[in-house]
Amino acid sequence: MERRERVLQNGGMTAPALPLIALDGPSGVGKSTTAKRVAARLGWQYLDTGAMYRAAALAVHRSGIALEDRAALEVLLAGLDLTQNAGRMYLAGEDVSDAIRSPEITLLVTPVSADARVREVLVDQQRRIGNLGRWVVDGRDIGTVVFTRACCKVFLTASPEARARRRFLELEAKGQTPDFDAVLADLNRRDLADSTRAASPLCKAEDATELDSSDLSLDEVVDWVVAKHLAHP
Ligand code: C5P
Repeated sequence: MERRERVLQNGGMTAPALPLIALDGPSGVGKSTTAKRVAARLGWQYLDTGAMYRAAALAVHRSGIALEDRAALEVLLAGLDLTQNAGRMYLAGEDVSDAIRSPEITLLVTPVSADARVREVLVDQQRRIGNLGRWVVDGRDIGTVVFTRACCKVFLTASPEARARRRFLELEAKGQTPDFDAVLADLNRRDLADSTRAASPLCKAEDATELDSSDLSLDEVVDWVVAKHLAHP
């Protein structure tokens, strides 16, 4: 049966399941690498919602406005032009893929993504993109808020130490000389902020399947997600 025609039981109502894989989980768990690989295997597209929040934080940073200045924030959000193409993030047509990974933006994205109005605008954009086709979408609230009718929901976890070790090796591979304790502290900071904020806190959707990837390789995680999707396409 065509996936679009399938229905989910939803509080006694029936609603079509969307051809979307929602991949949520804490920072540094390998969601984006996994999502990219799963999308490539299935011939689907990949949407990195974390990059959208980072690009919004970069726009706030460049404009110099304070989040408390609600009128200025509204103007900024109304003109926020975000696009993704071939794994790159664009802000008003400019490739900001590297700029959004700076330590400064990694700090600023926490308050920006905790702002309910910012989330409302970005969730709306994410829905307009995702509703157009087959997507693997990674984030914190994809299965719980953005695409509650995704046909496949995965909540990917790993111990903070395992995640910090992976991030440490990634940074080393980029030629940097990271400090393990600082990497671990940053992950713990973001975990706490993401899971305790009032607006769409990080949590597992009731109908998501949790996978602890602490002792799994990237290939094993990708195989698991693809197999889960194919078992209930
Ligand atoms: O995924 P990434 O770590 O790049 O996301 C950057 C930040 O954006 C996260 O620390 C989180 O605070 C926020 N985020 C979010 N909701 C999403 C994706 C990311 O709040 N769907």
